[in-house]
Amino acid sequence: MSSRIATSLGLLRHLQVHDFRAARTFVASFYPGRSLPARVVLFARWLFRMLWKHFPETSRWASIEHPVSRTPIWLAGADPFENHPFARDPAAKLPAEVEVAVIGAGMAGSASAYHWSRLAATGTMAVIEMNSVASGAAGRNEGLVVMGRYYSYVHHTVNTYLERTRMDLGAAARDRLAHEFAEAYAKAAYANAEMIAETIERERIECDYVRKGWVQAANPDALDRLERSTRMARETGFADWVKIPAEESFERAGIRVHAPSGFSIGAASWDPAKWVRGLMAIALRSPRVQLFTRTRVTSVKDQGERYAIHTDRGTVLARFVINAAESHTPALFPSLHDIIQPMQTQAAWGPSDGGTMKAGVGISSDRAFFGRHGGGVIFGSDATRVPDHEAGRNQPSRFITRFVLTEMKRLFGVETIRVTNEWSGTVSYTPDEFPIVGEMDGKRMHMVGGMAGSGSGVSFNGAHHVVKTILGLDGPDYYPAKYFSALRFRRDARPGS
Ligand SMILES: Cc1cc2nc3c(=O)[nH]c(=O)nc-3n(C[C@H](O)[C@H](O)[C@H](O)COP(=O)(O)OP(=O)(O)OC[C@H]3O[C@@H](n4cnc5c(N)ncnc54)[C@H](O)[C@@H]3O)c2cc1C
Repeated sequence: MSSRIATSLGLLRHLQVHDFRAARTFVASFYPGRSLPARVVLFARWLFRMLWKHFPETSRWASIEHPVSRTPIWLAGADPFENHPFARDPAAKLPAEVEVAVIGAGMAGSASAYHWSRLAATGTMAVIEMNSVASGAAGRNEGLVVMGRYYSYVHHTVNTYLERTRMDLGAAARDRLAHEFAEAYAKAAYANAEMIAETIERERIECDYVRKGWVQAANPDALDRLERSTRMARETGFADWVKIPAEESFERAGIRVHAPSGFSIGAASWDPAKWVRGLMAIALRSPRVQLFTRTRVTSVKDQGERYAIHTDRGTVLARFVINAAESHTPALFPSLHDIIQPMQTQAAWGPSDGGTMKAGVGISSDRAFFGRHGGGVIFGSDATRVPDHEAGRNQPSRFITRFVLTEMKRLFGVETIRVTNEWSGTVSYTPDEFPIVGEMDGKRMHMVGGMAGSGSGVSFNGAHHVVKTILGLDGPDYYPAKYFSALRFRRDARPGS
């Protein structure tokens, strides 16, 4: 009894603003279609069960180090790009002028540098990063290389957006347009996944890449959705997304479920920070790429033929800009406040027996994600919008950590875990949850962003596309402006108008 009260009080005492925000997300996803009063009552009952029964039980087999580290497990080692190049050369200066300035050195920024180093015959690119390479969501994530969102998921989010904004189109026309978007997305994402696999092999990037797919346990109340989505995958030919029986979910992932799961065949697992740092290290072998970490871009001004990139170390002029700041975009470009919406997600890691959980495979339920990594397990959840100025803030909810621990016991029978690292990161969502790859201002400023928590499924091919566009190179157009440009949110440039 006293330990129950102590656990509950301990949690309640440390509640932060984000716990309350995240509670709203959970209520909405747990009880879709219920009235507000019904949701509140159901949530209160659930909360009481958690606090009184499940959390105290969890404390018997799971401990959380005090103080817990806020460093993501992927970034726990030495940082090869800390204060680059100033740590080694304190007199180093930003260049006065470059061909391309890249803002941010996450997945998209580092991929831009890599592609520039391979494709550009002239001109210099400067990558400007306010913290360090992979210090944002790129180094704080779950470690999956996704095939992008599956076709029917994209169709659904785009169609839902069109229902809100395109009453000028009939239902059939909106549905057709949503199919066009989904097809364009899936084509680009499938190519992206193969490009990553080939690049890791060709460049020998040591990033612990293992391709064993991603098991996504379905909510037993929503099996019709799984059925519809896998049928749409078959019918459209984007057949990476299939349904597997409960026994196969257990064989592949060690997850104990009683209903079929969704399975992405081509997904892989990796160390995301090693991938991003690996790309940057290769890019920096070229004299055409320069990197400046611990350098914050404070504003970007269009001066006609050039952009002035103002930073806290001086100004760089650039003919082209690639905005790879992802969830930080609206802080830098406030006009994009409603277009790029920062969302917080969180993870934790600790040494553990892992129960039945298998290694090298992506695993999620409808409420959380899980994976085995380096003698322990990584787990997390959440997708809650945060104010623009909170992008990148490290403020995980302890409540969510405790909740996902209870899920881990239920799904994998984990016997012990000592949580040593607990962190959060921000991703960004656009209103249609469809990424922006390409033009941002109708001129020479481009972006790769709005990737809706699926950065590994967009960033590599997306950056390739943007670099190719800047260099005027031919090749397949995986990101037609009609769908992927930020201009689609302008009334006069909407597709299908
Ligand atoms: C907990 C969690 C789990 C996730 N799991 C997965 C997963 O398994 N698979 C997957 O594909 N995706 C996952 N994601 C999402 C994925 O990490 C992101 O989609 C992806 O990293 C975003 O792209 P990025 O790497 O280019 O952005 P970021 O890594 O956020 O890069 C943006 C960079 O820009 C820099 N920056 C911002 N503003 C400025 C400025 N003014 N000046 C200079 N630099 C600036 C930032 O410091 C940062 O380094 C997850 C995210 C989280 C948080």
